Amino acid sequence: MLIGVPKEIKNHEYRIGLSPAAVREYIANGHQVMVENNGGTAIGFTNEDYIQAGASIVETPDEIFAKAEMIVKVKEPQPNECKMLREGQILYTYLHLAPDPTQTKLLAEAGVTAIAYETVTDNRNGLPLLAPMSEVAGRMSIQAGAHHLEKAHGGSGTLLGGVPGVAPAEVLVIGGGVVGINAAKMAIGMGADVTILDRSLPRLRELDDIFAGRVKTIYSTVDAIDHYSKTADLVIGAVLIPGAAAPKLLTREHLKNMKPGSVVVDVAIDQGGCFETSKATTHQDPTYVVEDVVHYCVANMPGGVARTSTIALNNATLPYGIMLANKGIEAMRNNKNLLDGLNMHKGKITYKAVHDDLGQEL
Ligand code: NAD
Repeated sequence: MLIGVPKEIKNHEYRIGLSPAAVREYIANGHQVMVENNGGTAIGFTNEDYIQAGASIVETPDEIFAKAEMIVKVKEPQPNECKMLREGQILYTYLHLAPDPTQTKLLAEAGVTAIAYETVTDNRNGLPLLAPMSEVAGRMSIQAGAHHLEKAHGGSGTLLGGVPGVAPAEVLVIGGGVVGINAAKMAIGMGADVTILDRSLPRLRELDDIFAGRVKTIYSTVDAIDHYSKTADLVIGAVLIPGAAAPKLLTREHLKNMKPGSVVVDVAIDQGGCFETSKATTHQDPTYVVEDVVHYCVANMPGGVARTSTIALNNATLPYGIMLANKGIEAMRNNKNLLDGLNMHKGKITYKAVHDDLGQEL
């Protein structure tokens, strides 16, 4: 199959659909790959790297969209990209269609077969192509929090790990899923005093086993949030209720009781945020202050470490991508996990949640 990898065109998006290592795998499976000129240069994947991996470099996205049988991307196609897609072509990327009727309509008009990373499943009911970005965001949340706790960045001037003779900072992680566990790992690694709240007892048991006494696991209640937020230096918001907006767990009243210069990082901001005072920010201007508490609410945290994120994403997307390249859309016939990823086919919405939200609009 002829695979096309256009350069991402969303503002400040430096990730790319295939890394040179992933290109080699497609080539080894007998496919051909076209990569847009300088598609990965910003993150150190040069044209030369892609040529060595076996790809050809193509000057314009038009040529890629016109010729490729499968397009591999990172972000949802922008309107001018949607218009270049066509029936019989496979689009493999993050789509997030439910809140995006414009894109859904354009993809329907194009007739493309669109497989969304975010709805592909694994055999344990997980979302394996979302997990790597949660891992990245979870780890980054502590890095961002530690940075903004510094005095010059608006914080209280507290070092996460303390030093001999000085107590470490208190880190409160609300939500012990993929983001939460990765945040906790980093915070422990830096020597902080870590508490994780979750409302799933099985999850708290797992965390207790994994961290073997190095974190406090607490059942998530209003009372627990009241209690632990008062003394926290850094709070990480990492809850998810699948398919729903994030619940507002940390309120303005809580902030009033927190120490001035404390930092809150709302990773759940892409689902509306789990703090009452959260509003989405960008890597260019990541923080603002409410009630003397520094808020970091960047909606696409993994974009900040685009090189690591590209490699992590490729590790997860590669096996499914190779199946699609090897067998075309027939790959979905015997593979429920891949079929779960199918969101659009020949102008029709094929994913229930998207159909429920947008079916009337088409
Ligand atoms: P996950 O499903 O692995 O974990 C969510 C956890 O929240 C679960 O363990 C669940 O039991 C817990 N939870 C639900 N309600 C709770 C409550 N009231 N109190 C405490 N815990 C509660 O999800 P995840 O992959 O860790 O993602 C977490 C959030 O981070 C999601 O909103 C996701 O979209 C977001 N995210 C954001 C970025 C970004 O760049 N900002 C990147 C990746 C993920």
